[in-house]
Amino acid sequence: MNILVINTGSSSLKYQLIDMKDETVLAKGLCDRIGLEHAFLKQTGIGKETVVIEKDMYNHKIAMQEVVNALIDEKIGVIKSMDEIAAVGHRVVHGGEEFHDSVIIDGNVMKAIKDCVELAPLHNPPNIVGIEACQQIMPNIPMIAVFDTAFHQTLPRHAYIYPLPFEIYEKYKLRKYGFHGTSHKYVAQRAAALMGKPIEELKLISCHLGNGASICAVKNGKSIETSMGFTPLQGLCMGTRSGTIDPAVISYLMEKEKMTLKDVSDFLNKKSGVLGVSGISSDFRDVQSAAEAGNERALLALDIFCYRVKRFIGDYAAILNGIDAVIFTAGIGENNDLVRGKILKDMDYLGICIDMEKNKIRGQEIDISVSDAKVRTLIIPTNEELAIARETLKLVQ
Ligand code: AMP
Repeated sequence: MNILVINTGSSSLKYQLIDMKDETVLAKGLCDRIGLEHAFLKQTGIGKETVVIEKDMYNHKIAMQEVVNALIDEKIGVIKSMDEIAAVGHRVVHGGEEFHDSVIIDGNVMKAIKDCVELAPLHNPPNIVGIEACQQIMPNIPMIAVFDTAFHQTLPRHAYIYPLPFEIYEKYKLRKYGFHGTSHKYVAQRAAALMGKPIEELKLISCHLGNGASICAVKNGKSIETSMGFTPLQGLCMGTRSGTIDPAVISYLMEKEKMTLKDVSDFLNKKSGVLGVSGISSDFRDVQSAAEAGNERALLALDIFCYRVKRFIGDYAAILNGIDAVIFTAGIGENNDLVRGKILKDMDYLGICIDMEKNKIRGQEIDISVSDAKVRTLIIPTNEELAIARETLKLVQ
């Protein structure tokens, strides 16, 4: 059974076609610059060269049709007809309080996803457009929504309610939601498999460290705390996001720098974090090279990033009352040994102790702890597309 996984952004549409018999990726690709000049589709089919096709794509429906055309194309395609697609799994960023799990999309679900637009005005609209484009092109194929927020719906109330007047929560559902749930859930399940223990018996801390970064405390298979909040701005210092700061900074900046609300939002989301402190880049490879060449602000940016991850690990160790494993995933978590080393230095009090040689290994599932460490430290490459495909399969079966 082949499942198509779709991840739609405002001007992009990423896709993977996965054969669930053995979880082989038959094809993966991207439509980029949708609605703009010089739009293109890029696809790599199994055993085939990567192709780039330049094509005007005025909207997501046209892009979706191009995806289907590319998948069934005689030369570059991997299937003969659309009938070989059994179901489509859609990544949807925000499921609000409505969705605790993935769901089959029907009229009521679409309405509920639309109701969440207020909570995720940048992310949910393109997701909705992607679903509607698919429904028009493949009207008879079941569609499933997999939410970034769903895994965190198990947070206890005292974790997700902000200490603001309670009426604000009741009026606007303003609370912590958390994101990256599909990734945290996937790596937590892989960690349990690697450790040979039921997830229901484990206390895990999952560190998803990419351009966007978040941490999650997973107890007995359930998310009980996570660092992102009402929006992805809360929590860790990230590539371009500040993460948690004193909220009074906002009014101060508005007054002193004559910033509007939009200016402050852009400042905190797009110009801060590692980019803002280093003044160099949001990409850790650039920042690390600069730090190694003696750039002090680059070094400071790395130190701030690592310090904040370390603090969250300590925080979550307290919440969990002990840890069985710490997991590192996403671009930085999987690949950057310097960052992992800095975060985990001097954490033997908590039982965390890594083998510096093993820490140099990148991009594969591995236990990098010393053999007698009380807490396992695991690198687990995330695979959100596969996680979405598995959820989709579970529901259509
Ligand atoms: P992500 O958002 O998960 O794609 O992660 C992006 C971040 O991961 C960037 O800061 C990159 O510097 C870092 N990253 C991605 N791949 C690698 C790699 N192969 N080696 C080192 N860093 C990487």
